[in-house]
Amino acid sequence: MTVASVTVIGLGPMGRAMAATYLDRGHEVTVWNRTPGKADGLVARGARRADTVEAALRANDLVVLSLTDHTAVHAILEQAPAALAGRTVANLTSDTPDRARETAGWLAARGAVQLTGGVQVPPPGIGAPEAMTYYSGPREAIEAHRAALEVLTGIEYLGEDPGLAALYYQIGIDMFWTGLAGYLHGQAVAQANGISAREFLPRAVKTMDFRYFLEFYAPRIDAGDHGGDVDNVAMGVASLEHVLHTARASGVDGSLPAAVLELFRRAADAGRGGDSLTSLTEVLKA
Ligand code: NDP
Repeated sequence: MTVASVTVIGLGPMGRAMAATYLDRGHEVTVWNRTPGKADGLVARGARRADTVEAALRANDLVVLSLTDHTAVHAILEQAPAALAGRTVANLTSDTPDRARETAGWLAARGAVQLTGGVQVPPPGIGAPEAMTYYSGPREAIEAHRAALEVLTGIEYLGEDPGLAALYYQIGIDMFWTGLAGYLHGQAVAQANGISAREFLPRAVKTMDFRYFLEFYAPRIDAGDHGGDVDNVAMGVASLEHVLHTARASGVDGSLPAAVLELFRRAADAGRGGDSLTSLTEVLKA
């Protein structure tokens, strides 16, 4: 079977992992990066270095973009808009759903198709069997390039709207940042009290395994059922006051639990003290 040749533009940690994975699997890879030196290692392994964005775009039908944001996407593609016609651009660059839609429209006006991608693994996960990427955009473009895209990660196709993959990605990353910040705050309190992160690790793993709560809450959130039969906001306020006090007494900045406490207090002030914690979704939407 012949394998597709691919262009990779953007050689940060993620783009380099992608280009390297293509090389490992026997694909011809053309690369371009604003800072050309970042391509050296890949070129030494057989990648072709494009001297210009235009050459990179003209080299292959499938162009993978892995850039910081869509400002970078435009800064690069606007150097050679005429070379975009007929290209499928797998834009694996994180940004907002609105920007993903805007870039898709901009590309369409130049005869190119965007597949928006939200990669769900860090660079070392590229090419691993369990790795996944959210994709959205034209289904026929996904199918046409499925084999080449699946070299990088599995495909979770969400639909035609080019904003969808970015939306799902942002929802996940919303949970990731706030959850990870909670972990780091807890470890700051632990360290301030002489407990190492490694010592606390098995407890942290257990505490952050939210699966039970997520599966219990999801149908209730969808049903708008915020009955306080299992937990309630007033209990959360009291608990967060203890968390905040413990952090401050340990000499640790309390702004993170204070922000969460403020949210819970707002819910209580809105008359939801006896409702489930899930009622915070209503407070947040309001
Ligand atoms: P980086 O921010 O390190 O990517 C930098 C790339 O963008 C480099 O090629 C850089 O070029 C280029 N770039 C940035 N600004 C410009 C500009 N104005 N003009 C031209 N090129 C520009 O990110 P990563 O490689 O870590 O990630 C790439 C994408 O993948 C991001 O959107 C990220 O959110 C997403 N992602 C990353 C994950 C990770 O763990 N790293 C995980 C999941 C998704 P130069 O080398 O010249 O600076």
